Amino acid sequence: MEDRLREAVAQSRADYTEARWEQVTRSRVAFQRDQLMALESGEEAGGIVRCLVRGAWGIAVFTDPKELPRKVEEATELARTAARHVADPVALAPVEPVEARWQGEVRRDFRGVPLEEKRRLAEGYNKLLLEHSPLIASTSVRYTDSWRTTIYANSEGTYVEQGIPDVTLMVAAVARRNGDIQQGFESLGYAAGFEAVLGKEEQALQAAQRAVDLLSATPVQGGTYTVILDPDLAGVFIHEAFGHICEADFLLKNAPLREVMRVGTRFAVEFLNVVDDGYRARERGNAPYDDEGVPRRKTYLIKDGVLSGLMHSRATAHKMGAEPTGNARAVSWEHEPIVRMRNTYIEPGTASLEEMLHGIERGLYACAAFGGQTMFEQFTFSAAWGHEIVNGKIGPMVRDVVLTGNVFHTLQNIEMIGTDFKLEGSAGGCGKGGQWPLPTTTGAPHVRVRNVTVGGR
Ligand SMILES: [Zn+2]
Repeated sequence: MEDRLREAVAQSRADYTEARWEQVTRSRVAFQRDQLMALESGEEAGGIVRCLVRGAWGIAVFTDPKELPRKVEEATELARTAARHVADPVALAPVEPVEARWQGEVRRDFRGVPLEEKRRLAEGYNKLLLEHSPLIASTSVRYTDSWRTTIYANSEGTYVEQGIPDVTLMVAAVARRNGDIQQGFESLGYAAGFEAVLGKEEQALQAAQRAVDLLSATPVQGGTYTVILDPDLAGVFIHEAFGHICEADFLLKNAPLREVMRVGTRFAVEFLNVVDDGYRARERGNAPYDDEGVPRRKTYLIKDGVLSGLMHSRATAHKMGAEPTGNARAVSWEHEPIVRMRNTYIEPGTASLEEMLHGIERGLYACAAFGGQTMFEQFTFSAAWGHEIVNGKIGPMVRDVVLTGNVFHTLQNIEMIGTDFKLEGSAGGCGKGGQWPLPTTTGAPHVRVRNVTVGGR
């Protein structure tokens, strides 16, 4: 395959050509209540060619390697046609050609683990949830793994081979009493081997217990609070509310926000640092080389409170006079790369949780996220659960915690950042432009924010 790719891009008559061939091995186990819902493994392979002619892209996908030369011609032809109508020509920021081979490290390769063993693992977690309490009405456990091998070559001489492991575990329990229904979950994901999802019994039990506890929790009282976000929720916040608006392709389509998001502008308190990093050991968001063959970079989105970088593909970097950052990623061989996050996190600060709680007479401790929505600079997040903070101590559990606000105001209102940094992928993935689920990782320490609007009943 290597020779085929190198030859095809070298012989192309387009201004620029790249080809990516991808092979994915995956398996999946799912339980719901006491039922095995899925037990499967499979493989797929396919490729994509992109050609640039006079500022216009032509794209062709294929599944038979022998088709590659013909697909290069097809993509070139498409690009030529598109070039006649192109209003906003594409150009690529320069990068040094690289030759690289990279393999993710695993202790126990899940490709060698029998499907039956994966089934037993999921069944074990499911049983723990089911038997935890008579109040547990339903459970869901999902195990997935995939090994994505990509071969990439472009007409500038870059050649990259990568093998990226991905393993996830999601456990969820639903508790019911009378008409009330509550849920607890844990969602984990790693660029690692089978070992990464073993020994999670404690977390599974905590999820089940949380569902039960939430039945007795009172809905939070709406209002404006000083809130401490736990590391999970703070990580989701920085990805959803801030990370997505640091994606250069998004900004190029949103002129008003682009004006706001000028590198060098102060956005936050001076002790806030936000990073998007292409490699952290065992993390799901790893992309040592992106899907344009650009080596990873650690990009500070916010450094000392100031917007210091955006995330780029080669095309957006050219348009905005920046350097490519290695953020062009595709969810699979059927898609072209677009600007995506990788491992995105808030760097640790200096405060202990105790110091953060100190001085809060009546506040809120908001934990994990059920989900969130963002609309430009406005966000809404549902915390999975919360606790009142009363006179500097963590108090009773509350539920229905919905945080809303403006991301820029919220960044200014950060009061303290904890030392207790946690970076951990979840089992889901990021969605954008029809490409979902892309493995990403979010992380943060505890973060204390004043004046947060909390919706409640
Ligand atoms: Zn996302």
